[in-house]
Amino acid sequence: MCGIVGVTGTSLCKEILIEGLEKLEYRGYDSAGVYINDLKGDDFLVKRVGRIANLKEALTPEVQGETGIGHTRWATHGVPTEANAHPHFSNDERFYLVHNGVIDNFTQLRDQYLVDVDLKSETDTEVKIGRAHV
Ligand code: GLU
Repeated sequence: MCGIVGVTGTSLCKEILIEGLEKLEYRGYDSAGVYINDLKGDDFLVKRVGRIANLKEALTPEVQGETGIGHTRWATHGVPTEANAHPHFSNDERFYLVHNGVIDNFTQLRDQYLVDVDLKSETDTEVKIGRAHV
């Protein structure tokens, strides 16, 4: 079962996301990722297969920000890879998303509404955000 953590309003965002994901490790997972953005418009998407320690190692000092989401994934649709790890993002890269669970009718949604969208993963999750409109 996956774990989800969200943070906003603190420069300790990265540290809090990792600490939160570590607290949820007991739930089981196969990969982990974070999306972090800062007030200057810089953003970072970092994902790794395996332990949170692998993700931590990939979070270089320049990965900093005040708002972020983190996820530990238990794959149901698509094997554990960086591409399939969460967060996922919309086609225009304006929205980032993590998700727990299964979208039963994802094949139908994908084939009916997203045939022209370049999906980046094999997950059911990405159909929730592949084409996002404001
Ligand atoms: N179904 C989603 C996936 O395979 C989410 C799995 C989860 O709850 O971690 O990516």
